[in-house]
Amino acid sequence: MRVALVEDNPDLRSLISNHLRSLGIHVETAATGEDALNMIDAEVHNLIILDRGLPDMEGLELLKILRDEKIKTPVLILTAKDGLGDKVDGLNSGADDYLVKPFEMDELVARVRALGRRPSEVVHPVSRLGNLEFHAAENKITIGSQEIELSLKEKDMMESLMRLPGRVVSKASLQNILYGHSEEGSANSIEVILHRLRKKLMQSDANVEVRNLRGIGYLIKEKEVKTK
Ligand code: CA
Repeated sequence: MRVALVEDNPDLRSLISNHLRSLGIHVETAATGEDALNMIDAEVHNLIILDRGLPDMEGLELLKILRDEKIKTPVLILTAKDGLGDKVDGLNSGADDYLVKPFEMDELVARVRALGRRPSEVVHPVSRLGNLEFHAAENKITIGSQEIELSLKEKDMMESLMRLPGRVVSKASLQNILYGHSEEGSANSIEVILHRLRKKLMQSDANVEVRNLRGIGYLIKEKEVKTK
């Protein structure tokens, strides 16, 4: 799951992001409405956590811009105001849920998990290519009776590639999906993850391969059968 967190309070921002990251959730953060608009990507984020009181705009104003842009990503509003009117405002503006500050971290996590489960797009639980089956929800691939566990990053890479086998995924978008804007991730670490993923594919009897088209990106495809 990938969360976009928009919160201007630095303490609360790191408290929330550290907690979610410790649960294996990817978090990208923004401190202003403007940064948030640059960061939020409907293709990347499954959930937006949005503070109402931002320095440059009202959170609800930002939410309206997102909804006007047809971004349907679920939004959890964080609000310091607990009046019923505010609550209704938030939900009318297209928010999916709200949480009143101060809140317990467990409560936040419960809401995040519930909203993150609402699929913004249909993802097939198991996708197949050649003799390989990719089980995204279980972080693994299977080839016949062989099971190969994937790390979180390997799974993310596989997920991006398996969306459309044979189609090139650019290095920049892989970097964005795996590391976001706010996390450290050099072009080099993409290569490292790719190397590990390829090794796993080679060590099993997968008849698929990940190709690196230099300067363009990566794609996954069935191996061509070589005839002598
Ligand atoms: Ca605030």
